[in-house]
Amino acid sequence: MKLTVDVLRYLSKDDFRVLTAVEMGMRNHEIVPAELIGRIAGLKHGGSYKVMKNLLRHKLLHHDSSKYDGFRLTYLGYDFLAIKTLVKRGVFASVGRQIGVGKESDIFEVATEDGTIMAMKLHRLGRVSFRAVKNKRDYLRHRSSFNWLYLSRLAALKEFAFMKALQDHGFPVPDAVDCNRHCVIMSLVPGYPLVQVKELPNPDIVFETIIGLVTRLAEHGLIHCDFNEFNIMIDDDEKVTMIDFPQMVSVSHRNAQMYFDRDVECIFKFFRKRFNLTFQEEKDECDRSESNEDDDGRPQLSSITVSDVVLDKDLAASGFTKEKQDVIEKFIEGGTERDTDSDDEESGEESLSDDETNVEKRPLSDDCRKDVQQSTVSCDDEDDRVHIAVQCD
Ligand code: ADP
Ligand code: MG
Repeated sequence: MKLTVDVLRYLSKDDFRVLTAVEMGMRNHEIVPAELIGRIAGLKHGGSYKVMKNLLRHKLLHHDSSKYDGFRLTYLGYDFLAIKTLVKRGVFASVGRQIGVGKESDIFEVATEDGTIMAMKLHRLGRVSFRAVKNKRDYLRHRSSFNWLYLSRLAALKEFAFMKALQDHGFPVPDAVDCNRHCVIMSLVPGYPLVQVKELPNPDIVFETIIGLVTRLAEHGLIHCDFNEFNIMIDDDEKVTMIDFPQMVSVSHRNAQMYFDRDVECIFKFFRKRFNLTFQEEKDECDRSESNEDDDGRPQLSSITVSDVVLDKDLAASGFTKEKQDVIEKFIEGGTERDTDSDDEESGEESLSDDETNVEKRPLSDDCRKDVQQSTVSCDDEDDRVHIAVQCD
């Protein structure tokens, strides 16, 4: 989804007042009645109608009159609310180019006043394969009210909480900087996703490092659940960083064994295919009896001793409660399709709504990655406008 953030500079205090009113209304309404928005925004002389029309024109709101005259936020509207909050907080001052298009997220570069570049991940739950959407709808049918924005917010909160906890426990993850709504700000990871790497000087060492991470996560009571070449970054010195945490689960999860084995299998398969690694057991009988591995050297969840449970205690500290964990887990479980499944899901992509899932799935050119154009953003407190200029082709 394109992020035409330059519109931000034209938005007035009233525009944000109405956007916020729609956001508040969406806590209990999928479509917020126009009249309610007017009441929440509290603008004089029906002023909110004019504002809503303007927001509609910029695709920040979606109009729905099927049941009554109402509106809901689009992802772009939600993006603006999050970006504005984070800019006002001083977390970053400008938005650069898009550096990643995930299955359910968009990633952009952002920069602070002093030029430090970070990554901004905007979660977009709902941009998923047909099968996953269907599964999720089956689950969501049992809920009286929900919206994709709420789930995206939970995904962001979960990702932020896990990133922070993992960082505190010494895992190679991006630094968790801040989080607002469906938006996570983290340090920019140097290098490339492993999937883009065709050659490695020491594939066997990198493989051991990565498998070591799956094991160490399990020792901390966690399973990544989407551990594959798309979610592992590697730099020129072969330093590995793992990313993408909204789907992580505890080793006590009822499907833990399956998720763990699947993570392990993905890594084995990738290294076998891409780097021709072979995994014949080379150890003698004696070593094998004491190892945590099967005959192919695959680590076994049942043989791993959980020494330090990251979940619960660390996550609760980040505001990610057990209840929230349950909601997002059930939702994500409905369709834990892997990034690696993306080959066969292109054709089955189902739109939830045009403005929310108008996704351009395209690889980012190297030029685009490198040539980050930063433009200054300033918050003018007087009229509450956010002046932001953005280049994101
Ligand atoms: P999704 O959940 O949609 O799969 P990811 O978190 O995996 O999203 O991010 C998608 C892509 O964006 C990654 O493959 C990577 O190329 C890029 N990316 C994500 N986070 C960062 C980061 N912190 N630094 C650099 N690139 C990143
Ligand atoms: Mg990913």
